[in-house]
Amino acid sequence: MNETELLDVFIQEGTAWVRQLRNDHRPRGRPLSTDEWTALAAYFSPHILEKTRLDFVPRIENPPFYQQVSFTPLDFTQWGLTVHDTVLIVESHTSNLSLLFHELVHVVQYDILGIDECIKQYVTGWAMNGKMYEQIPAEQEARAMQAQFEGGSTPFQVVAIVGARLKGSIKSYNATDPC
Ligand SMILES: [Zn+2]
Repeated sequence: MNETELLDVFIQEGTAWVRQLRNDHRPRGRPLSTDEWTALAAYFSPHILEKTRLDFVPRIENPPFYQQVSFTPLDFTQWGLTVHDTVLIVESHTSNLSLLFHELVHVVQYDILGIDECIKQYVTGWAMNGKMYEQIPAEQEARAMQAQFEGGSTPFQVVAIVGARLKGSIKSYNATDPC
């Protein structure tokens, strides 16, 4: 499998995997609590806070399609994973507000781009940045804002910052993107 074929597999399989996970977990998820809403309302619009569901899971598995390729390019063994408007959080991190903030930045990214474009940019961002998870622009953006939040910075509108970075991509946003 050459590089282009590999990327195509990741984009296609990754998109299907995200949709499946989202549809499996969303019905079990809960809305944000009043405390979470209060702590995050200065950073995220009501639209984002309202649409998000949280599901708590024992662990986050790597995608099954990793077995089709000869190496593990992204390590999803982490504490949180956002699949569109649904956030999976490992049970030991149920009260981790900083982690929730990070994942909500990803909800905003999905909200602006839609699932297909969001995954495409994520995988392409990985391929173009040394195949390092930490260097993916969407992750760098989420980590940088999470650090500001943790540091108690003056509140800022996450959607404005994400929107500015993705300005050139918004034309591909499909508001009727089915899940
Ligand atoms: Zn992240």
